[in-house]
Amino acid sequence: MRYVSTRGQAPALNFADVTLAGLARDGGLYVPERWPSFSKGDIVQLAGKSYAEAAVRVMRPFVADALSEETLSDLVADAYGGFRHAAVAPLTQLDANDWLLELFHGPTLAFKDVALQLLGRLFDHFLTARGQRVTIVGATSGDTGSAAIEACRDRSAIEIFMLHPAGRVSEVQRRQMTTVLSPNVHNIAIDGTFDDCQAMVKAMFNDLAFRDAMQLSAVNSINWARVMAQVVYYFTSAVALGAPHRPVAFSVPTGNFGDVYAGYVAACMGLPVDKLIVATNINDILARALQSGAYAKGEVYPTITPSMDIQVSSNFERLIFDLYDRQGKAVSDLMDTFQRSGAITLGAAQLKMAQRLFVSARIDEAGTKAAIAEVYRRSGVLIDPHTAVGVAAGRRQRADRAIPLVSLATAHPAKFPEAVAAASGVAPKLPAHLADLLSRPERCASLPNDLNRVQVYIRDTVTAKA
Ligand SMILES: *Cc1c(COP(=O)(O)O)cnc(C)c1O
Repeated sequence: MRYVSTRGQAPALNFADVTLAGLARDGGLYVPERWPSFSKGDIVQLAGKSYAEAAVRVMRPFVADALSEETLSDLVADAYGGFRHAAVAPLTQLDANDWLLELFHGPTLAFKDVALQLLGRLFDHFLTARGQRVTIVGATSGDTGSAAIEACRDRSAIEIFMLHPAGRVSEVQRRQMTTVLSPNVHNIAIDGTFDDCQAMVKAMFNDLAFRDAMQLSAVNSINWARVMAQVVYYFTSAVALGAPHRPVAFSVPTGNFGDVYAGYVAACMGLPVDKLIVATNINDILARALQSGAYAKGEVYPTITPSMDIQVSSNFERLIFDLYDRQGKAVSDLMDTFQRSGAITLGAAQLKMAQRLFVSARIDEAGTKAAIAEVYRRSGVLIDPHTAVGVAAGRRQRADRAIPLVSLATAHPAKFPEAVAAASGVAPKLPAHLADLLSRPERCASLPNDLNRVQVYIRDTVTAKA
């Protein structure tokens, strides 16, 4: 399988190069040259398989020439062996034909573990085979940092440096990062804001001498391998509910459009997906785009669903690429316009095509809290605020009650305890593996908001280990 850039200029690459490259050199995102096609018979064969077995079958065509089936199986078994639920991504029933897909049984209690646990192992595998090492640098406002750290810890080809704003992440979030004492994990508390941290990471990537000397890399959500890993649970959940013999609808709490785009990929591969409900909070760029065709940046408002507080959804470019018949030039022109003016308008034909599969809803804070309370009252299940946005959007946009609706549960309720307790009256408990989190030793450097000091710290640490 070869991968092409959505902007049509960067060279086509194989799976290993795409995994390590992340962003394409022309600024675009990599996508497979064509969608693998699963027949009804192929989908039937997934029934009764373990998550890891199904994952190998779904991902095999995407990695074909870069990994043997045996290596893929080993990496997948290792990635999902650490999940706390034997089914990895189990379904919970909320009501007749109304289901939750629990994606939060990984180490950091959020769905990002599903993709990142595999991505860390893919990085390590490809780098070790090439005799290379990378330095992963990232900034976090709390949520994605721990998932990236858990993905990269103890991987011999990777050093990871994670910057967070000192005193501005919750204690649980900080401790999920700083109590990982692996020698290749380096937390840095910056005396500044999240934006300061992010600006420093950007500056380090733009400092080409530093970037090359340190072999800087990222594991962010535009990485193709992350999308690929997320396609799997659309298949496993749909098959459990009767696919390929009947269609299934999904409601997906959305920020960067990575998770719901994976549902679109599953549909392109032949899974009978009735509808994909794009659920946003009040940061609703995607809901507006899918309703009117106007993809236009707004102001970012903080909400109780921080992982969806986004007004530019990077992975949307991958959908635009297909809507415009995979014409890199058209995508490149649109993205230049978006970069310049913060707004583009999809053509009428393209909007109509998108609306065949995607519907959307914007859920405000009151609607989010009401969904947490209602699901707890009616079904006795505590859901986190992000999940609640998806559940509420599903209730609003569901067209046909005869079609099973799967709402993706993207975080464990104990990851956002205050909001869940306020809405439901019940304080969610941390799972056993994190019960002693507040008494574990921490390791974290503290540095001023000074790019040079941070670069010196990273260089000294990497050099000392080389
Ligand atoms: C990242 C995240 C999302 C949004 O996923 P995207 O792939 O960015 O659309 C939703 N919920 C939670 C809990 C997340 O961490």
